[in-house]
Amino acid sequence: MILKGIAASPGLVIGKAYLVGDENVAVPKRKVPKEELPLEIARFEEALIKTRSEIIEIKNKIIEELGHEHGEIFDAHLLVLEDRALIEEVISYLKKDRYSVEYAFSQVLERYISAFIKIDDEYLRERLSDIQDVGRRILHNLLGGHQALLKDLRDEVVLVAYDLSPSDTASMPRDKILAFVTDIGGRTSHTAIMARSLEIPAVIGIETATKDIRNGDIIIVDGSDGLVYVNPDKDIMQRYKKSQKKRTALTRELVKIKDLPAETKDGYRIQLSANIEFPEEIASVQAHGAHGIGLYRTEYFYMNRAGLPTEDEHFEAYKKVAERMKPEMVIIRTMDLGGDKFISQLEIPREMNPFLGWRAIRFCLARPELFKIQLRAILRASVFGNLMLMYPMISGVEEIKEANKILKSCKRELEKENVNFNKDLKVGAMIEIPSAALTADVLAEEVDFFSIGTNDLIQYSMAVDRSNEKIAYLYNPAHPAVLRLIRNVINAGHQKGIWVGMCGEMAADPAMALLLVGMGLDEFSVSSISVPTVKKIIRSISLKEAQDIAKQALKLTSGDKIRTFLNDKAKEIIPELLSLKDK
Ligand code: PEP
Ligand code: MG
Repeated sequence: MILKGIAASPGLVIGKAYLVGDENVAVPKRKVPKEELPLEIARFEEALIKTRSEIIEIKNKIIEELGHEHGEIFDAHLLVLEDRALIEEVISYLKKDRYSVEYAFSQVLERYISAFIKIDDEYLRERLSDIQDVGRRILHNLLGGHQALLKDLRDEVVLVAYDLSPSDTASMPRDKILAFVTDIGGRTSHTAIMARSLEIPAVIGIETATKDIRNGDIIIVDGSDGLVYVNPDKDIMQRYKKSQKKRTALTRELVKIKDLPAETKDGYRIQLSANIEFPEEIASVQAHGAHGIGLYRTEYFYMNRAGLPTEDEHFEAYKKVAERMKPEMVIIRTMDLGGDKFISQLEIPREMNPFLGWRAIRFCLARPELFKIQLRAILRASVFGNLMLMYPMISGVEEIKEANKILKSCKRELEKENVNFNKDLKVGAMIEIPSAALTADVLAEEVDFFSIGTNDLIQYSMAVDRSNEKIAYLYNPAHPAVLRLIRNVINAGHQKGIWVGMCGEMAADPAMALLLVGMGLDEFSVSSISVPTVKKIIRSISLKEAQDIAKQALKLTSGDKIRTFLNDKAKEIIPELLSLKDK
């Protein structure tokens, strides 16, 4: 059986499936005599205390390893433990029905969960996974540790779960987890982010993984193509084993070019940077040989915490990144909340079309008092390294002017306060809306650089939701419309003397990267794990060859023709990268 999901984190793994999250099924339904009720209540309290100290332990471990942003997730878990309503309901269930506390608890928990599932609120649904996670822990402690939790794992396994919570990820022994597979979750879910930053292959959003896979099944997880094979036959197994060997050899090969420049065979230098969500990813950025950070998605800083980050908290995070990357550049993108990324603190109302709604720069311009907190912090951090800033979701020149006006007022404030900042801080615009791509010549007058966000640009130009599996076949970076928009941005930028980069996923697609070199893209910013591949591509071609490829590709009339043409070219030029796809 082959299951298709979202390729959340690349890599290829063959292993035994281990299903998590089915602890609840084994809760015994046992009546207890009235005189034993105080004992049951005491057991419940004990389990709550034990669970609390476990969560605190995980939280501290995570803060130590990955930093405060990740640790704050567990504050929400601690809040669930302190939920008086939940605790009192369990106790009254116990007294009324006189079942064992684990059974009483599992019943109340189930009621809670089904009530939460019905709530049509993004934030509360997010809290559901906290409740499930904590509930599982409490049950585990009540049942005396008979149910296996992740931390008890002995063998190497592939985790299969409906959803994987941050605390699952945090408490599991990393050397035992070969890969993740989940039913739900999008590209921006915690599972995906964690998997990428821990460099564990993952396929998510399969929908039926927990139904179709059983404990102990042998599964192949292809995190690069988003495929999972369940109990594959000998042929497939052999093909994948061969492909796995090739990948290992290739990774070893690619590591060798880590310290070499990203330049074409004829010496044309390209800026190769990495995308990050958390400052803790810098080690990985450097280990993969990126020469800067082309996209720091700061909105993650606002997530999984009780309140909004203060100016000083922003400042500390940006200063750390600037210092550690110095003298390489770091482009901080101002927060891009909304769309598929929500936080409850900002009270953004529910919208019919959140991707087309009150998000990113639109929200920031409407709430300048919040925007200024981030801008002031970026300015203050700008003296500690080579920081630049860029605005997301720009649709027209007025937005840039307005944002720059607010930036200027922050500069004036800091001057008055005698606070140092880089007076020449470079400011860029993300080009991810067709209206911006088509007016790039106008926008270029107002900024120092462009960074093309193809993840959104493609969804807006083709009217195809980037997180919807059902229409994923339409999501095609090779479509001539997308390429013409990109060409317009690059040409307009160059005519006005500014550089043009790309931080969307398209930049990491080998065949597309060849084309983009030829189209004159100045900067590629990709996830750390993709940096070596893109460097290899750049180093395998001359600028002239790439330009010829681009010229020919842009003459073709359909996305399919362009894709086939580019894949063939890539096979000729970098056969070792493309052959991985021929499983
Ligand atoms: C993009 O849209 O291409 C982009 C890089 O931004 P994000 O994926 O965060 O929307
Ligand atoms: Mg975007």
